[in-house]
Amino acid sequence: MEDLNILERIQDNWGLVREEVAAATAASGRTPDEVTVIGVTKYVDAAYTAMLIQAGCVDLGENRPQVLWSKAESPGFPSNIRWHMIGHLQTNKVRRLLRYQPLIHSVDSERLLGVIAKESVAREVKTRVLLEVNISGDAEKTGMSATQLEELMQQPIPEGIEVVGLMAMAGLAADSGQIQRQFDAVRELRDHLVTASGLALPELSMGMSGDFQQAIRAGATMVRIGSRLFEGLLGGH
Ligand SMILES: *Cc1c(COP(=O)(O)O)cnc(C)c1O
Repeated sequence: MEDLNILERIQDNWGLVREEVAAATAASGRTPDEVTVIGVTKYVDAAYTAMLIQAGCVDLGENRPQVLWSKAESPGFPSNIRWHMIGHLQTNKVRRLLRYQPLIHSVDSERLLGVIAKESVAREVKTRVLLEVNISGDAEKTGMSATQLEELMQQPIPEGIEVVGLMAMAGLAADSGQIQRQFDAVRELRDHLVTASGLALPELSMGMSGDFQQAIRAGATMVRIGSRLFEGLLGGH
């Protein structure tokens, strides 16, 4: 496909996803600016990623830190990007990742939180994070259990860290009703943690291409959309 056609396709996809997210947000009685669409670009190279930015997407999500920083460092790549780290993060990747001041959605252990805190203090920054909860209980899913999260939140938040909310994924085998209940459970857990900790925890990152409507109904403030944005451009998608 010619570059121009690829750009048009990405622009169309971006426009459609924005419309559907706005419709789902309105249907829940919420205002459009309450939900941020994060474009998940893990399927595509830096050139396609730049086209998505050109289409108007400024929040980009990657699930591998090496890919995030190699895109951010590629010559001519736009610098006005808000980066989102959404996949499992190894502690030895934290230092370099912090150069790009991402919102880290995938804090799945106390140990990782500790390393992000230490590296943030060393850089003299405050890093915004979401705590990842394994709401489905699927063994193959990452994230902490609700109990682990409650225990973690009973301790003081380490210096260098601002916890702004929770992140979750629906279970692989969940049907539509189960997905709705899982997302509702994430919001309830957040509400409980707000009361218990006194922190605001305004952000709920949940919902992907196949289930963002249910997530928005449950109160998502960030949806992470990948395959829908690159429909027609990826083999097998
Ligand atoms: C890949 C991925 C997404 C996007 O999924 P799609 O179904 O392609 O929209 C969202 N969140 C995480 C954590 C991912 O790894």
